[in-house]
This record gives sequence, C-alpha cells and structure tokens, in this order.
Amino acid sequence: MTKHVFVTGGVVSSLGKGLTSASIGMLLEARGLRVRMQKLDPYINVDPGTMSPYQHGEVYVLDDGSETDLDLGHYERFTATHLTRQCNYTTGQIYLSVINKERRGEFLGKTVQVIPHITNEIKDVVTQLANADTDVVITEIGGTVGDIESLPFLEAIRQIPLEVGRENCIFIHLTLVPYLKAAGELKTKPTQHSVGLLRQIGIQPDILVCRTERGLDVSDREKIALFCNVPLESVIEERDKDFSIYEVPLSLQSNRIDEIILRRFGLQAPPAALDEWHDILHRLRNPEHEVSIALVGKYAEHRDAYKSIYEALDHGGIACRTQVRVQPIKSEDIEREGAERLLAGFDGLLVPGGFGERGIEGKVEAIRFARERRLPFLGICLGMQCAVIDFARNVAGLEAAHSTEFARNTPHPVICLMDEQHSVVDKGGTMRLGAQPAVLAEGTKAAAAYGSTRISERHRHRYEFNSKYRAALEEAGLVIAGTNPAGTLVEIVELADHPWFVAVQFHPEFKSKPTAAHPLFAGLVAAAVERHAGSAWVAES
Ligand code: GLN
Repeated sequence: MTKHVFVTGGVVSSLGKGLTSASIGMLLEARGLRVRMQKLDPYINVDPGTMSPYQHGEVYVLDDGSETDLDLGHYERFTATHLTRQCNYTTGQIYLSVINKERRGEFLGKTVQVIPHITNEIKDVVTQLANADTDVVITEIGGTVGDIESLPFLEAIRQIPLEVGRENCIFIHLTLVPYLKAAGELKTKPTQHSVGLLRQIGIQPDILVCRTERGLDVSDREKIALFCNVPLESVIEERDKDFSIYEVPLSLQSNRIDEIILRRFGLQAPPAALDEWHDILHRLRNPEHEVSIALVGKYAEHRDAYKSIYEALDHGGIACRTQVRVQPIKSEDIEREGAERLLAGFDGLLVPGGFGERGIEGKVEAIRFARERRLPFLGICLGMQCAVIDFARNVAGLEAAHSTEFARNTPHPVICLMDEQHSVVDKGGTMRLGAQPAVLAEGTKAAAAYGSTRISERHRHRYEFNSKYRAALEEAGLVIAGTNPAGTLVEIVELADHPWFVAVQFHPEFKSKPTAAHPLFAGLVAAAVERHAGSAWVAES
C-alpha cells in the first residue's frame, strides 16, 4: 500500500516548502524507499510555462516536455524520483479538466461543484501516483494555509485518508517561528494560529517543521506541541541555513524526521545512506579554489529566474572543489557601460536562456568580449543564439546578422524560427520542449566533457540556428559540435582556438545535481579555475 505525505505551509509564504519536501524525499530514498513527488499549485494559470520569471521564477522543464514550477527542480536535484506531467498541477489545470468533462457531458447534467467535482479531480491526481512501484508519494500544496485559493486542495487532502486509511497518510505543516527583537524571544502564536486554521478544515498535522532563525528550546517546543496537539518529538526545528541549501536534509535528519515518518507508517528500513551527501557538504566547506563567474541576463538580479543555473554552477564548484562566486550583471548595463568595464576580472561568463529583445546587444557584446579575451564561456539557449550572432557579425563578416525573433528583416537571419513553429498560435506548451537526443562530433570540447557522443538534453525554444548559414560559419571557424541525430538542427557550437567556449541550444542546468554536476558546468568551472590560476601567475610574475 503506497503511503502519502502531504506538505502544507503556514504563517508566510517562501518558507521553503519545496526544499523541505525535496529533503524529506531525499531522506526517504536514502533509507531505501521508492518515492514519487508532486506539487499542487493554487493559481489559475494552466501551467507555469507562460508566467513571468519576474513573478514566478524560472520555468523548470521535465524530460517529457512539461513546463513546471521551479520546486520540481529541487525535487530532481535532491532525489532520484521520476518526474512527469503528473507531478505538477495548478488550479487552472484542475478546472480545465473538470470543465472539459462537463462539456463532454460526463456529469450527466448534474450540477458541477467545487465539492465534490473539483475535489474529486484533485484526489485523482494525487492517488494516480500511488502504485505497486511506489512506497511513498509526497504531495506539496503550494500557497499558505488561510488562502482562499488553496481551500479546495486542502479539502481534497483532508478526504484522502478516508479512502486510503489515516494510518497511510502523514500531514507535515511547515511554519514560521519568528524571533521578536523587542521581546527578546521566539513567538509560537503564529504557528498556533496556522495549525488552528488547518484543524478547522479538518486536518490535524502529524509533524510540524518550524522555520526559525534561532534555535527552539524545549519550552518553545513543548508549548507548540501542546497547543497544536502534536507529540513533542514531532515538533521539528528547521534553522535558517546561511551556508547551503544542501544542509537542509541533514538538519532534518538530525531531528529524526525520517525515523518519525517510518515509525508512523509502520515501515522498516535500513539506516539512511548519507555518505555522498556528507561529501558534498565537506567539499562545499573546504574549497581548494575560488572563481568568479559573470551571469549576464535580462533578469540577472532576480535569482529565482535562473534558479537551476545558480544551482548547477554550485554543482560545478562541488565537482571541481571550487567556491564559485556568481555575479549577476544586467545585459542592459553592458550596453550602457561596455563589456570591458563590467567583465574585466571575471574568470568566466555564462549567458543563460531568455526571451524578448531587451538587453540582447549587451549579451552579444559580453560574448564577443569572452571570445576575444579567451574568457571561459558557456552559452545556454538564447545565450547560444547570441554567440552565433556575434560570430556571424564579427568573425564571418555577416554585417547586421541577427535572430528573426528580434529583427524580422535582418539581411542575415542566422537564427530563425523553427519550421514547425510557423503555424503555432497558442503560447502555452507549444515550444520545442523536453528531452531530445543529440549526437556530438568526436574531438570536440563537448564530447570530451560528456565522455560520450550520444546525449539527451532538455529543450525549450522556438528559434534555432539557421542551417543555411552553417557552411559559411563553419568556414569562418565555428565548430558545430552537436546536432540532432538527423543532422538538421544545430545543438552545440564551440570555438576550437579558445580555452572553453561552448554554447548549447538546450538547458543543461535542468539535469545537474549536487551529487553529479552537469559536465558542461563542471567544464566551465574547471576552465575558470585554470584561467584564475593563470591570471594569478601573471599578476605575481
Ligand atoms: N527566445 C529563444 C527561442 O525561443 C530562446 C529561448 C530560451 O532561451 N529558452 O528560441
């Protein structure tokens, strides 16, 4: 019988429910359990794919091409769980499905209502993940208890124990225990109120994870336990981590959360195998090198918009025992102040994906600087397209070369709309999305980094390298290091005479893990370390 863990949040948003859920998933896997993970988001957008990264952070893409919430990135980085379209639903998707059923007459003319029709739909999307191959399904409910829009989700998960048995369900509630300076103490009242709200709905949490900047003492925990009706040992402190998010699972484990969950479910499991995880933290704490990488993007200052990129750079650092300092730089600032001024002194450059014309010239200029000054460079998606634009304009002599995304009538459309995109009108879920195979050319930096010439990577784009320009650009020295298996789409370009200049049409950041850095991120960091060592040597001599 598959067990269910539900994770809710209270008091304030942004408490790190995604990280906490991912950490619990990781700990259960470390004890040998087979885990599936899922996030239910209360907003009405049908999927996160069309939402602004400003408001919502990055769109995380899965192998199957679904565009999901960035918390799914945490799930994949922390666990080995298999994520699919069934792992992220929004209120919009739930309603769309119910309304489509109603239009098809599936409700036989009955009045269609939030309870039971919407709640039944929610219960179905949760229980569909339970099967003979899954020991535990972890379902995270987005939003904060008390929000009007999350009520149907809470009502649905309240009902699930009635179907699968209360003993097969655990409710974990994440709350904030703030420290009040004026009073000089931690305050438990917001947690009491938040749990009170949950209990009104009919959910008695089994475990409280309390986010706090200071340690909870026993009397705080006793108070919370008594007022919230949970056993003392199930009031778990989660102290703010200023060092690394990868500490979260170990801190939860030191509070025995895995033990409490297993005992509650009546499951036996070997002790958690955490050596790999301890090793990650050891490497993070004891770096042998330090490099600084410039991240030049439209939203550069907005970390969540590039969440997986920041994480993947950290993973590259873990692999190379290097502290990677990432400096976000707005591409528009490069337009105003010049690459020379803003990029001198960095050991590497990363230009990530993006949409829209704003800041494009700044990206092209930054890449030109990296190309000419032999600064290690990784270009991703739009970053790759900008690298091709720079090369076409400044090396191959194709004046005013551009992408038709930004200059419809450019004389040299070196980046153009993919054929299958010409007829697309809808915005949601219509790009070239998800895992696609690629073939790498022998002897390239990419093939060396991957240690293979066959790869699979995740995509999310409408525009591509225009094959009509392939011969001219190759002639001028651009290396086509990877294509789709048919050879019709260029997936990777490189420069041979450069320490590390690799630009890819796909998103390697979505497949990087702390335990297995993506080879292209490890490659960038390794090249940056070399550059740094070289420049230090030059400075000394
Ligand atoms: N805007 C570009 C395209 O659609 C790049 C997309 C991206 O960087 N994800 O092709």
